[in-house]
Order: sequence, then structure tokens, then C-alpha cells
Amino acid sequence: MHLSTPQLLEIVAAFPDSTLVFTEDGYCIAHLGDQEAHEFSSSRLLTGRFVSDVFSEEKAKWFLQQIRNSIFEQRLRVSEYAISPDDIRLPNCESAKLEREHWFEARILPLNSFIDGQRAVVWAARNINERYKLEQQLRRLSETDELTGAFNRRRFFESLANHYQTFHRHFLDCSLIMLDIDNFKRINDQYGHPCGDRVLKQVYQQICTQLREVDICARMGGEEFAILLPNTKTSEALRSAERIRIAIEEYTFTTLNHQVDVTVSLGVSSIEVTDSNCDSVLQRADDALYHAKKTGRNQAVQFLEEFSI
Ligand code: GH3
Ligand code: MG
Ligand code: MG
Repeated sequence: MHLSTPQLLEIVAAFPDSTLVFTEDGYCIAHLGDQEAHEFSSSRLLTGRFVSDVFSEEKAKWFLQQIRNSIFEQRLRVSEYAISPDDIRLPNCESAKLEREHWFEARILPLNSFIDGQRAVVWAARNINERYKLEQQLRRLSETDELTGAFNRRRFFESLANHYQTFHRHFLDCSLIMLDIDNFKRINDQYGHPCGDRVLKQVYQQICTQLREVDICARMGGEEFAILLPNTKTSEALRSAERIRIAIEEYTFTTLNHQVDVTVSLGVSSIEVTDSNCDSVLQRADDALYHAKKTGRNQAVQFLEEFSI
């Protein structure tokens, strides 16, 4: 049995994904399929236009690069990309429907035949907003401490390893603060575990009031938090630690029916050229924290060589 051209066209038009045909100069000759109704379709915008007519310079460059890479490599390429309102330069009713970022997965396949004397690709784009949202949620869950909303240990060690590498490659300073709540067991014993939990959450919130966007605060377990401060020298980190200490000392912690006085001890260290792995910087912050506890609590202490002797 042979399918007629109209039958073939009808079948292709029924494809749920949006299928575009681009020549190597970024001109979109045709679009097929796209039966899955999404509020925004970049295919309708692109058909009969160059990518540079529709998208911002940067996004158009990215599209062209994908098309040319696929032609150059003569193989299927799979790419994920986002299109946001800022990416569209065309004033058009279709783009008005783009109120937020949309995520797509493209399968880009080079064609054997030439179109208008040019090499060309088929670009099959699938809207992956739902999958992307789910992946983001899963990633957030996998790196977040459930009780406080801080990052968890796993995420902390990942970031520390990254900054450790950056330090050794580009000599970008990076400091670390270890924080432990003073006499936390007493709070639990006196007011109960649920009150202790509320204190933990509020301590995290108070830490955050003193941090920058780039800083990473993680709950390392129990009543202990670690804070990574990129591009920060030890002396600046000590000042941050002191600010956190004061913020917590001055904050009125409220548990169910009580006001609780809370203080914390902090140890500060930085990644050093002599470090051979991440553990050393953690160990030094721990040693400084231990010293802060031993010499009276409610203080921020910078690591000194004599602590490790
Ligand atoms: P120090 O000043 O020396 O740090 O004394 P501390 O009492 O804070 O330290 P200790 O290690 O003796 O006790 C920590 C307590 O933290 C014991 C544990 O029950 C409590 N804890 C650990 N995780 C949680 C939690 O998720 N919620 C609550 N409410 N308590 C927790
Ligand atoms: Mg403690
Ligand atoms: Mg502790």
C-alpha cells in the first residue's frame, strides 16, 4: 500500500510535536504538526521568517549554532532550551501570549536533500514545561533540609567541592562558617522538641537576614549549620559571623507560649593554597567552633594554627 502525498501531509500534520524545517541560514521554511495545543507556539512565529527576525540577537545566535552543529556533525542533536518574553523581538499577537518562560526539547536532524540550494534540518520541538517544573521541584527537594528550608549536607558538599576547585584554578577566596546553637539540648528539655524545631527554623531565618544571594547556608544535622561565603576573605567572614551572632542574640525567639533566649557559637576558616582537599577547611572551621564553645560560647572565632596543635 502506498500513501498519497495529501495522506502523508495529513499524517505529519497530526504529529503532537511542533516540527520546523530550517535552512542553514536560519530561515524557517515550514512548520508541521503541533497538534498539542499550548498557549504559546514559537513555530507559528517562526514560519516564513529568519530566526534573527523573531528572536533577540543572543537567542537567534543560539538557534543558528544548533542548526549548523547538526549539519556539521551530520547527526541527531537533542537540546533543551527556554524561550522567555525577553527573547522575542517581534511585536505580534502570538508573542503577546508568551507571559512567562516556556521550556522545549528539540530534536534536530540534518536532511540529506538540499532546499533552495541550501542544507537544511528538521527541528522537532516538544513543550516540556511540566517535566521541567517537576525536575526543578525534585532538584529542590533533593538539596533542601525539610525542617528549616536550608540547603542540606549533600548540596553543601557539592558547593564546597566546586568552590574548592575554583579556588585552586583562579585563586578566588572562599570562606566557611560553622555555626552551632548553644545549649540547644536545654531548650528541648525545657520547652519540648516541637519548640526546639521552631527555634531551629528561626535561627535559619536570622542567618539568612545577614547573607548575600551567593552565600550557601546548609543545615549539617541537628542544630548545626554551615555557611559558604564565596569571594570572601577570612577577616570579612569573621565580620559576617559576628553579625549573625548578634542578629541571633538580639532576636526574640518565640515558641508556642514562650520567649526563648538563643545564642550561637561560630568557627571561621578559609580555603588555603596548602589544602589538599575540602576536608581540611571544614576541619579548621570545626576546630575554631570547638574553641568558641570551650572559651565561653556566644562568640565567633577565626581559626588559628594553635587550635590544631
Ligand atoms: P553545645 O552548646 O555544646 O552545642 O550544647 P548543645 O546542647 O547545643 O549540644 P548537644 O550536642 O549536647 O545537643 C544537641 C541537641 O540537639 C540534642 C538533640 O536532641 C537536639 N536536636 C538535634 N536535632 C534536632 C531537631 O531536628 N529538632 C530538635 N528539636 N532538636 C534536635
Ligand atoms: Mg549545640
Ligand atoms: Mg552540635
